[in-house]
Amino acid sequence: MVVSVPVIFAVDEDDGALRAVERELVDRYSRGYRVICVSSEEEAMAQLETLAEAGEDVALVLAAHHLGQALGDELLGKVRDLHAHAQRGLLIEWGSWGDGQTAGEIFEAMARRRIEYYVIRPSQSPDELFHQSVSTFLLEWANARRVSPHTVHIISESWTGRAHELKEVLGRCAVPHSFLLADSPEGRTFMAESGDGETLPLVVFPNGTVLANPTNLELAGAAGATIDPDRREYDVIIIGGGPAGLSAAVYGASEGFRTLVVDNGGIGGQATSSSLIRNYLGFPRGVSGRRLAESAYEQAWVFGAKFAFMHDATAIRREDGRIHVALSDGGEVSAPAVILATGATYRRLGVTEIEALVGAGVFYSGPAYEAPTTVDEEVYVVGGANSAGQAALHLAEFARRVTLVVRGESLAQGMSHYLVEQVEGAPNIDVRLGTEVVGGGAGDDGWLERLTLRTRADGTTETVAAEELFLMIGARPNTDWLSEACALGDGGFVRTGTEIAGDGTWPLERNPFSLETSMPGVFAAGDVRHGSINRVASAVGEGSIAIKLVHELFAVEQLQLS
Ligand SMILES: Cc1cc2nc3c(=O)[nH]c(=O)nc-3n(C[C@H](O)[C@H](O)[C@H](O)COP(=O)(O)OP(=O)(O)OC[C@H]3O[C@@H](n4cnc5c(N)ncnc54)[C@H](O)[C@@H]3O)c2cc1C
Repeated sequence: MVVSVPVIFAVDEDDGALRAVERELVDRYSRGYRVICVSSEEEAMAQLETLAEAGEDVALVLAAHHLGQALGDELLGKVRDLHAHAQRGLLIEWGSWGDGQTAGEIFEAMARRRIEYYVIRPSQSPDELFHQSVSTFLLEWANARRVSPHTVHIISESWTGRAHELKEVLGRCAVPHSFLLADSPEGRTFMAESGDGETLPLVVFPNGTVLANPTNLELAGAAGATIDPDRREYDVIIIGGGPAGLSAAVYGASEGFRTLVVDNGGIGGQATSSSLIRNYLGFPRGVSGRRLAESAYEQAWVFGAKFAFMHDATAIRREDGRIHVALSDGGEVSAPAVILATGATYRRLGVTEIEALVGAGVFYSGPAYEAPTTVDEEVYVVGGANSAGQAALHLAEFARRVTLVVRGESLAQGMSHYLVEQVEGAPNIDVRLGTEVVGGGAGDDGWLERLTLRTRADGTTETVAAEELFLMIGARPNTDWLSEACALGDGGFVRTGTEIAGDGTWPLERNPFSLETSMPGVFAAGDVRHGSINRVASAVGEGSIAIKLVHELFAVEQLQLS
C-alpha cells in the first residue's frame, strides 16, 4: 500500500524567490512532506485541485503576495474550499510591511481569514526565521488533523455519555486527543492492538498505556496531571487554573510564596475553548487558548507552584487567621491568603432533547477543538456575544454554512463592532435574529440531525437540518460552592474592595484591599469578580494584582512565609 505523505505547496512568480523557498523546504522537510513549488497562479490552482480530487493531504500553502495581476491572498482564500485543514501563509519581501498598502492588504487578508499569517521570504540558508514560521504552521495543521505528537485516542461505541466526559477531561487538561467509534476501521485497529474485550470506552495513550473506562482522576493522572496537594499548608492558595489563577500562580511562586493551585479540571479555564485569542498582548498572529494555558502552566511550574487538578473546592472558612479550603476528596488545605479565580461557566439551554445529544453534535463551547471536524457540515451557533461571533467565524472556515442564532434583535447589542463586521461580511454565515432553539433530534446514527427554531416575535417554529450545534449563551459565575462565605453581587459574582467597604459585610477595622472579598484574606480575580472585564488580559492582570495585595496583607497582618 502506498502511504501518501502530506504536501507543502508554494507558489511564487519570482524565480529566484521560488528557488530559495524550494531549497529551504526541501532541505528541512522532504523526509516527512512532499514539497511542490510552482511559478504561476493558474498552475497552483490546477495542481491544488488535482491534489484535492486525489484526496491528498495538503498541510501548508505559501503564496507570494503578488501573483501576476492577482494577490496571493485571493488564491489562499480559495484554498480552504479545496483543502480544509491547510494552513495558509502569504510570502512577503523583508521590510515590505512598512509600505502602507502592503500592510493594509495583510490586515484585510487576516481579518477576512484568507490567510493565517504572513511569512518573510527566506534569504540566507538555513533561514531559521522562515523555518520558525513554517513549523508553527505545521504544528497548527497537525493539531487540526489530530496527528499532533502525543495524541490520546478515545475509542467508544457512542459519542455521548462517558466517552464525551472523557473527551472533556482531556480537553480541560489541554491534552490533544481524538475520538474513534469502536466499529470504525481505526477504532477496530486500536481495539485489536490494545486487547479486544476491554470495557469501553478505551483510552490509548502515546506511551502505550491503555485504560478501560478510567475514572476522571485515573485519566488525568495518566495524562500527567498532578492530582493531590503535596502538603496541607501553603502561603497562598489559588482556586481556579484559568488565566487569572495561572497568572497569580506565576507571580505568587516567583515572588517566594508557597503556592498551590486547585482546579476541578485542568488548566486554562474558559480560555481553552478559544481557538485564537487575537487581542492578547505580544502574540501578533494570535494564540490558541490551549497553547497560552500550557505555556503559563509551565511557567508557574518552573517557578515552583504546585497544582492539584480534578479537585473541586467545596467550602471555605476563616479560622485562627488562616483560610481553610475543603476539597472534594474530603481533604482540606489552608493558607493565610486565598485567591478565588473560579471564573464562569456557560449557561445550559435546558431543552431536554438537546441536552441528551451533548457530545453527539451538541457542544457547550468547544468550537476551537471541534471546528476542524465540521468540514462541509451545516453548523449552528447559539449566542449573541463575542465568544459566539468568534466561534461562528472560526467554524465558517471549515463548515459549509454556519447559522448564528441570536435571541436579540441586533448583533451590535452584544458583540464588538469588529466582530459584527466580520460576521456580516462572511459569505457562509447566516444570522437569525430574534430566534431561539426550542428542540431537536438525532438521526439513526445517534448524531444530531435537526433543530427546531422558534421566532420570538410571532412564536412560529421551523425544523432545519443541522449536524453541529454550539451553545454559547452567556456565563454564570462558579460561586455556588461559596454559599454565604463571601458577599455576592448581581448574578452571583463576588463583590470586592470598595463594593463591600461600607455595606456591613466587611468585619474588620482596616479597609479591605481592592480585590479583597468580604472574608478577610480572600481575594477574587478574573471573571468571577463582580465588575470584571471578561478578557484574558484583564484576568491575567487581576491575578498579578491579587498577589501584590497578598504581599500587603502579609505586611499589615505581620504574617511570615511558611
Ligand atoms: C469561546 C471563548 C472565547 C474567548 N475569547 C477571548 C478572546 O479572544 N480574548 C479575550 O480576552 N477573552 C476571551 N474569552 C474570555 C476569557 O477566556 C475569560 O475572560 C478568561 O478565561 C477568564 O479567566 P478566569 O481565570 O477568570 O476564569 P476561567 O477561565 O473561567 O477559569 C476558571 C477556572 O476555575 C475552575 N473552577 C471553577 N470552580 C471551581 C471550584 N469550585 N474548584 C476548583 N476549580 C474551579 C474552572 O474549572 C476553570 O478552570 C473567551 C471565552 C470563551 C469561552
